[in-house]
Amino acid sequence: MSITIKNEKELNKMRKAGKILKDTLDLLESSVFPGQTTNNLNKIAFDYITSQGGKPSFLNYEGFPYTICASKNEQVVHGFCDDEPLKEGDIISIDCGVIWEGYHSDAARTFPVGNVSAENLRLIEVTKQSFFEGIKDIKAGSRLGHISHRIQAHLEKNGYGVVRELVGHGIGTHLHEDPMVPNYGKYNSGIVLEEGMTLAIEPMSTLGNKNVYLEDNDWTVSTQDGLPSAHYENTVLITKDGVEILTL
Ligand code: MG
Ligand code: MG
Repeated sequence: MSITIKNEKELNKMRKAGKILKDTLDLLESSVFPGQTTNNLNKIAFDYITSQGGKPSFLNYEGFPYTICASKNEQVVHGFCDDEPLKEGDIISIDCGVIWEGYHSDAARTFPVGNVSAENLRLIEVTKQSFFEGIKDIKAGSRLGHISHRIQAHLEKNGYGVVRELVGHGIGTHLHEDPMVPNYGKYNSGIVLEEGMTLAIEPMSTLGNKNVYLEDNDWTVSTQDGLPSAHYENTVLITKDGVEILTL
């Protein structure tokens, strides 16, 4: 699939998809506490998205069975929901997407459950920071590798692993479009970004070793060493002067 450039009419649909998703993630953030279950968080997300007239992007995507990916602790992405209560000290990454009139948004946050260790809080915070480092000074005419390089540099400077097996992506009428947006790479490499491109930029970090494996459910990706992982993602539009974040 080639890289798509969106016109203003398409972008307005993506902005609406992004707004519903942002509000969904805010609602989920206030719903994360010890004793809460991911099945319940999944229901909260489904109910809210559909009440706004949106459709969950992930539900039934290639057979994925939930509205949200709920990845606890050592799970990096694509965690399944269940009835196990969240425990004080857990961290949980929630990834979600919304379709509005055929256009997708995609975003993820990692939330602390109650009081969590300083080590885990820092992992969450630095992973979020790496997203903002990645988009710093980016605009039409910048190279894609600037984003990848800056995310990698920020995470590694802070002692974290950068997951290689999963990457960000273009987004539009499909949840996953070209180009791939790795969280590692060389400055001044890759395609030149153009006004109207929309990208899901999503650093995935690990507290320990960067190596991951696929769990038996054939979806969930977890760290090999069992140490925690964090994920932060937004859908962004490349503009003449910078970026517009559609999911904040
Ligand atoms: Mg996502
Ligand atoms: Mg994504």
